Amino acid sequence: MSKEINTKEIIDRLNSFLTEEQILVNEPMSKHTTFRIGGDADIHVSPSVDELPKVVSLCNELNVPYYVVGNGSNLLVSDNGVRGVVISIRRPAEYIKIEGNTIVAGAGTSLAKVSNQAAKEGLGDLSFAAGIPGTIGGAVVMNAGAYGGEIKDTLKSVKVCTKDGNVLEIEAKDLDLSYRHSCIPEKGYIVLEATFEMQPMEEEELRAKMTEYRNSRVAKQPLNFPSAGSTFKRPKDNFAGKLIEDAGLKGYQVGGAQVSEKHCGFVVNANGATAKDVYTLIQDVIKDVENKYDVTLEPEVKMMGEF
Ligand SMILES: Cc1cc2nc3c(=O)[nH]c(=O)nc-3n(C[C@H](O)[C@H](O)[C@H](O)COP(=O)(O)OP(=O)(O)OC[C@H]3O[C@@H](n4cnc5c(N)ncnc54)[C@H](O)[C@@H]3O)c2cc1C
Repeated sequence: MSKEINTKEIIDRLNSFLTEEQILVNEPMSKHTTFRIGGDADIHVSPSVDELPKVVSLCNELNVPYYVVGNGSNLLVSDNGVRGVVISIRRPAEYIKIEGNTIVAGAGTSLAKVSNQAAKEGLGDLSFAAGIPGTIGGAVVMNAGAYGGEIKDTLKSVKVCTKDGNVLEIEAKDLDLSYRHSCIPEKGYIVLEATFEMQPMEEEELRAKMTEYRNSRVAKQPLNFPSAGSTFKRPKDNFAGKLIEDAGLKGYQVGGAQVSEKHCGFVVNANGATAKDVYTLIQDVIKDVENKYDVTLEPEVKMMGEF
């Protein structure tokens, strides 16, 4: 996009339905990722669920590329930033409605908040989500999971915005949900809202599990460093962390990026890492593990921008 001309035009048009606080220009993406890494987004907008389709339609009309970000907890954004519009789905798209055993949540709602609210209402089971720092939208897209549970277990349907800016309701069974996968990115859908069908469960039982999972994370994961969680998907019949450790890569560093000393499945921003540091380290790990064990690790972390 030709920055000087189109940035002004798109901001003027966005201003007709978003407030000034919802539109940020040259916004550092390092503020919006748990890696604390990433260059500037030309334009960064935070619409509500109702405003989001209008942003998509406008980007289409002006031929401006757009990208979607939740809490940025599974994201590596390029040091060069993002050309076009970053649609951040956070606070204005945050709400929880509970009716009987059904929970409806806006895509910008924190997954942990929904898990917590569900426990309070005696509804299970999203206890696995305690400690996963994503939004509902990001969690659905990734089919987030831990400790034997995943989003797929309770998700009933989602409301999405299509590439054309239309809103559709889709059943969970049509989302091709599997281990850290859904068909949402390939279809170009943006999750606006998710509906979960829950089961009555004792709050005490849910709370006990949530505490156990949180304690386990504190004990095993390098939560004192910025990261995006598990960097690689679990390979078939194996564990990425174990393969990386066995390959002798524990503590391996490229610039400020490091294979965690505490859990080799995590790449951490140990000391002012750039996206290039993290990216190079990921490629090095993939190559080394492939050479030693003939297993090709696949990044779970999503890349945004040019690498
Ligand atoms: C310390 C730590 C621990 C973690 N532990 C776990 C774990 O146990 N299990 C697990 O599964 N994950 C874990 N994660 C990874 C991450 O939290 C999850 O993948 C989470 O679901 C990502 O949500 P997000 O809102 O941050 O998505 P983002 O990182 O913002 O985005 C992830 C992808 O989804 C897309 N996206 C985001 N929102 C939407 C939307 N509304 N519509 C369409 N596309 C969208 C983005 O474009 C991107 O491709 C962990 C991360 C950290 C930092």
